[in-house]
Amino acid sequence: MLGRGGRWLQRARGAASGPPPPAPHGAQLSFDGAVFRLKSGWELVRGLLVFQLCALPGLVRRAPTLLSVSRRLLGCRLWGSLLRTSFYGQFVAGQTPPEVGVTVQRLHALGLRPLLAVPIEEDVGQDKEGESWYEGNRGAMLGCVGLSAPGGPQPMMQLKVTALMSAGLCEANFSGLSPTENRHLQASLLRLDGVTQRAVEAGVRVLVDAEYTYVNPALTLVTLALMGRWNRTQPWVWNTYQCYLQDCLVRLRADVALAERRGFCFGVKLVRGAYLEQERRLARERGYPDPLHPTWEATNHSYQRCLDLLLELVARDGQRCQLIVASHNEASVSHAVRRMEELGIAKDGGAVCFGQLLGMCDHVSLALGQAGYATYKSIPYGAVADVLPYLVRRAQENQSVLQGTRKERDLLRRELWRRLLRHP
Ligand SMILES: Cc1cc2nc3c(=O)[nH]c(=O)nc-3n(C[C@H](O)[C@H](O)[C@H](O)COP(=O)(O)OP(=O)(O)OC[C@H]3O[C@@H](n4cnc5c(N)ncnc54)[C@H](O)[C@@H]3O)c2cc1C
Repeated sequence: MLGRGGRWLQRARGAASGPPPPAPHGAQLSFDGAVFRLKSGWELVRGLLVFQLCALPGLVRRAPTLLSVSRRLLGCRLWGSLLRTSFYGQFVAGQTPPEVGVTVQRLHALGLRPLLAVPIEEDVGQDKEGESWYEGNRGAMLGCVGLSAPGGPQPMMQLKVTALMSAGLCEANFSGLSPTENRHLQASLLRLDGVTQRAVEAGVRVLVDAEYTYVNPALTLVTLALMGRWNRTQPWVWNTYQCYLQDCLVRLRADVALAERRGFCFGVKLVRGAYLEQERRLARERGYPDPLHPTWEATNHSYQRCLDLLLELVARDGQRCQLIVASHNEASVSHAVRRMEELGIAKDGGAVCFGQLLGMCDHVSLALGQAGYATYKSIPYGAVADVLPYLVRRAQENQSVLQGTRKERDLLRRELWRRLLRHP
């Protein structure tokens, strides 16, 4: 149990590296698409069309050019309407608070929960002049707190540190800063703390995103500091661990041990990692060893070991250690569900929940939600022109995921045929 002696970590370590768990028991979740009966006919058609297009690598690669050319040809209005009925409609909650509210209500009706995300990002070399850009983002994050707060049980939101603090500063990792940089650091910390305070007051959990390896140490440092300050009685601030990194399990154990020593609660978003190609390219260009697991299987193994460690910790004290299995991977989700049963972790107790992106792997999310598991859909929101660059980047980064939507496409097609044959 967190904060009660050191043995729980050792026990959990043993479990994580020990023999595989016994055979599953209890009812198995089925990802056979039966839950697509909950979707409207239009949602089925749109999903099929969008996934079909996203699975074309050439199209995704040229998306920025295609988007700007089509905008010029069609004019802003028609272009915006077309996107709203297709890509934007599939992956984005809406632009205004009422539109986001409709999406959230629809999710609730399907047994799912919203995990709102403001789609802003900055990379090294793109530092914005002055504090105004970051201050604007602070306002957007506070708005996100407000939108998340009435969102049903255990509301959550995602937070991107580099929206509030320069990525360049994060890469420098706070050493040898100039007076200007120091001022920016101070202002950034105040922004982060202010947003967190508002979230805690509103009862919203803050899930801090992991980004590139060159900024992650700074992000973790800031996140652990926020945890130390705000997670005294329950985990309001959560950190993200990317299992494609070779040192993920080691870092996770170190941070769990720190939480235990300092007596703060620990929340984790567990992901495989989104920046595979960029990380590898960077390692090649800068001449350092590839920080990622060499194979897909090794990443899966890493994910399972981290997951097992965390589930053991949650089973010991689900008040002080909580986890979101942020994955579309059916094997990972099934494994988590099975271990939850074996460890006696409640489906809807809030200590373990599941997360997928809006518009992706609905057959997994809906099956989980309908079976009573706390399941969140990560949803970006904002104006079409603001969100599209973010969507395009995500699509390019997750090409392998999008190409792997074959099963989802087949399930959508099957459900459409079922309806067509029944109602010719
Ligand atoms: C709610 C939510 C929040 C998220 N937050 C973050 C975040 O903060 N930071 C972040 O980085 N990502 C985040 N992601 C994205 C996540 O890291 C994955 O990119 C995405 O979810 C795909 O992985 P998967 O487990 O869902 O699916 P899977 O289909 O099992 O995973 C496929 C992905 O694993 C990759 N992969 C990893 N290691 C290897 C390897 N060694 N060899 C080959 N392929 C490999 C593939 O390229 C592919 O992108 C989030 C995802 C969700 C659903």
